[in-house]
Amino acid sequence: MAEKKPALKCPICGKPADLNTSASPFCSARCKMIDLGKWLGEDYRISEPLRPDHFVEFEELSGDGLDAAERR
Ligand SMILES: [Zn+2]
Repeated sequence: MAEKKPALKCPICGKPADLNTSASPFCSARCKMIDLGKWLGEDYRISEPLRPDHFVEFEELSGDGLDAAERR
């Protein structure tokens, strides 16, 4: 029986990674730490929060046209 292992490459350096290591899916603990540091750096860049002036355009919508539709 041929054992088919999926080809796993280290996302950091691209070297073949060993699934049996504790650093998986990275090839080494060093690459694991590099990836962790990358995530921590990007997580602090949060997208722009919602502000009240984002909703101003909705206030211009009104029901003025409803009365006219009732007239005969
Ligand atoms: Zn690596």
